[in-house]
Amino acid sequence: MMEGGYKKYDKFHLWDFVGEQKAKGLVKHMGFSFHAGPQLLDRLLKEHPEVDFVQLQINYADWENPSVTARANYEVARKHGKSIVVMEPVKGGNLANPPAAVKRLLDEYHPDMSYASWAIRFVASLDGIITVLSGMSNTQQMEDNLSYMKKFQPLNEAEQKIIQEAQRILGNSSTIPCTACHYCTEGCPKKIPIPEIFSAMNKQLGNGQMAEAVSDYRKATSLTGKASECINCRQCERICPQHLGITDYLKQCVDALEK
Ligand code: SF4
Ligand code: SF4
Repeated sequence: MMEGGYKKYDKFHLWDFVGEQKAKGLVKHMGFSFHAGPQLLDRLLKEHPEVDFVQLQINYADWENPSVTARANYEVARKHGKSIVVMEPVKGGNLANPPAAVKRLLDEYHPDMSYASWAIRFVASLDGIITVLSGMSNTQQMEDNLSYMKKFQPLNEAEQKIIQEAQRILGNSSTIPCTACHYCTEGCPKKIPIPEIFSAMNKQLGNGQMAEAVSDYRKATSLTGKASECINCRQCERICPQHLGITDYLKQCVDALEK
C-alpha cells in the first residue's frame, strides 16, 4: 500500500474480496504491507477495522527517519490494536555491515554477536510484533538468526542505550539509505543497477573504502547501464518506497566512482 496506489484497492473491491475469503475460512488473518506515512495508515485502519495486522518497515536506523516514519507508523498500528509484521529489519542488509563507528560501538558490548542480531533484536523487542521478516541469503545467516531468536531475549537497558547511540551516529552518516528492494530497477529504461551502485557508493561514504567502492561499481555496471547513462525520467523515484532522490544520488556516484 503506497500513497499513489491505495485507491485501486477500493476501485477493484479488494477489501471486499479478501473479506469474503476470510468469511469462507480460506484466509485466516488479513493484513497489508505499507509504504507511506502515519496519516494514511491511520485513515486506512479507521476505514478498515477488519484488518488483523500491518506489515511495516521498521529498523533502528529508520526509527526516526522522516521519509520512512517507522516509529510513527508503528505507533499508529498499535493505537489501532494491530499486530505487526516487520519488513526490512536489517535495512536491506545495511545494518549487517554498518559504518565503522557503529561496528566499534556494538563490538565493545557484544564482541561475539553479529551486527544483524542487534537489528533483529531491536524490532523483535517491540510490543505487538508477530513476525520479523529477515531476508537471509545463506545457511550461516539462518543459523545466526536462530541462535538469538530461539530463546529470545529482548534488548536490555544497556543495549537500548547502545542502539540509541548507533542511531545518533547513523543520523550523522551520509550513506544512501537504499534497502536494495529492487522495485526501481525493472522499469529503468537504461537498465541501471541502482541498488548495487548505491551499495558500492556506501562503502566510500560509510567507511571511506574508495578502492572497494570503485571496484564494486565497475563490477555492478560491467554489463548494464552506468550511473551516467541516467536520462532523468524519474520512474525509479516514483516507485521507490524510501522516497529517495535517486537521480541526485546517481549524479553523486558518477562524480565519485566514474571519474
Ligand atoms: S531516472 Fe535514471 S535511473 Fe531512474 S529509471 Fe530513469 S533512467 Fe533509470
Ligand atoms: S526502490 Fe529505492 S530503496 Fe528500493 S532498491 Fe531502488 S533505490 Fe533502493
